Amino acid sequence: MSAMLAESRSDQATAVVDVPSSDRKRVVIIGGGFAGLAAARALRHADVDVFLIDRRNHHIFQPLLYQVATAVLSSAEIAAPIRQLEAKQRNVTVLLAEVTGVDLASRTVEASSPGAGVRKIAFDYLVVATGMRPSYFGHDEFARYAPGLKSLNDAETIRAKILGAFELAATTEDEAERAREMTFVLVGAGPTGVELAASLAQMVKVTLRGNFRRIDPAKASIILLDAGKRVLPTFAESLSRRVTRRLTKLGVKVVTGVKVETVDEQGVVAGGNRIPSATVLWTAGVAASPVPKMLGTKTDRAGRALVDPFLKVLDAPGVFVVGDAASLMQNEHPVPGVAQAAIQEGNYVGRLIAKELKGRKVRRPFRYFDKGNMAVVGKNYAVLERGWLRTSGVLTWLVWAFVHVLSLPQLQNRLRVQRQWLWSYFTGQRSSRLIPEPPAAGTHEPGR
Ligand SMILES: Cc1cc2nc3c(=O)[nH]c(=O)nc-3n(C[C@H](O)[C@H](O)[C@H](O)COP(=O)(O)OP(=O)(O)OC[C@H]3O[C@@H](n4cnc5c(N)ncnc54)[C@H](O)[C@@H]3O)c2cc1C
Repeated sequence: MSAMLAESRSDQATAVVDVPSSDRKRVVIIGGGFAGLAAARALRHADVDVFLIDRRNHHIFQPLLYQVATAVLSSAEIAAPIRQLEAKQRNVTVLLAEVTGVDLASRTVEASSPGAGVRKIAFDYLVVATGMRPSYFGHDEFARYAPGLKSLNDAETIRAKILGAFELAATTEDEAERAREMTFVLVGAGPTGVELAASLAQMVKVTLRGNFRRIDPAKASIILLDAGKRVLPTFAESLSRRVTRRLTKLGVKVVTGVKVETVDEQGVVAGGNRIPSATVLWTAGVAASPVPKMLGTKTDRAGRALVDPFLKVLDAPGVFVVGDAASLMQNEHPVPGVAQAAIQEGNYVGRLIAKELKGRKVRRPFRYFDKGNMAVVGKNYAVLERGWLRTSGVLTWLVWAFVHVLSLPQLQNRLRVQRQWLWSYFTGQRSSRLIPEPPAAGTHEPGR
């Protein structure tokens, strides 16, 4: 795709405006997650230039991030470079940049690329697909001590924290400190908290067995806290009960109805009690990225843009918000923030734009088709809820594994993940037990 760079107004001296040089219309998509990629793919046959902007060079399959955090998989196995879309789809241009502003009046977005400065990119259609980030419910100071799980960096940080805690427990002479190092607190008992806690429980009992002479990792204490009444609040109560029993059997202590008041370097204070812990993980709230707010439209409490049934932003023609960043009600229920909803929304908007470009009007609003909700609780156990259907156990776990392998981006990831899972299933071993070395002082060479 060729483009023309024009000088912008003098008050924005650093920015140049990148406008299309051809007669073709341009669709700018912000975000190469599930929704953004689905929108780009739905435009593959359209006579349009698609500009896909993401601040990361890779798409992450977030449902398996917890397995990177617990050393089952490595980062590369659940991610794929977004740029390869340029090779696959002729009308797509990929730009590695962070969107820092949207100007609906001049129909431009402002994007800042590492080392290349700020660019203004003109659009005819804009699709915002920027997802969510962890929310500490107004306590951003907790983030320093309790990492959330959203990116590959987060997953690797968590993995290093967990493995590092056992190393410190094995070296200290102080009993109280050893107990603190071997206590893991997870705040938030939604699917991520449950999956992470169960995987950690199996790691300490099986993978780390016999690896330390001075400590027994199986004696680690794993505590899953939630302010709500039950684990997995978006699932039916009967499934929540089954999951609680399963977690307890794995050795996870489930504590519900307790609010976390403080997180600091010593651990957490929850329900008035201090729990000393060297590893606190935040699996509780999420908030939208700041981009929906840049549209100047109404947002919900979590910062998601309120969209109409066609996923359009009110009073902003040609501007759409899809995926986790959008707030949409259907049959008096919010469309959930899950991968399936994001893919369906991105696909819908891509097709809608393609039709509009052909001069056709789309009359059918977006309908979310719920394919079911799943969560995995360690080896051989998952729960599934789909309409009236509720199942759990080993067969559901096999369905979960099959669906997740098939949904991974790239064939090579599917093959690598299957191999790792088989290895881990039969041996109990996990191949990614790496704690990255801190750079030695004075030896860091940029670019190495
Ligand atoms: C740990 C975890 C586990 C999950 N497990 C499941 C599960 O089992 N099943 C399920 O269905 N769903 C699961 N989800 C939810 C699911 O991953 C999301 O619903 C889905 O990713 C939403 O897709 P999206 O495209 O809206 O956002 P994302 O996939 O988050 O993509 C957003 C993209 O926008 C980019 N971006 C953000 N801001 C900017 C900016 N300013 N400039 C440029 N780029 C930007 C980001 O880099 C990212 O690539 C899980 C989520 C997490 C975090």
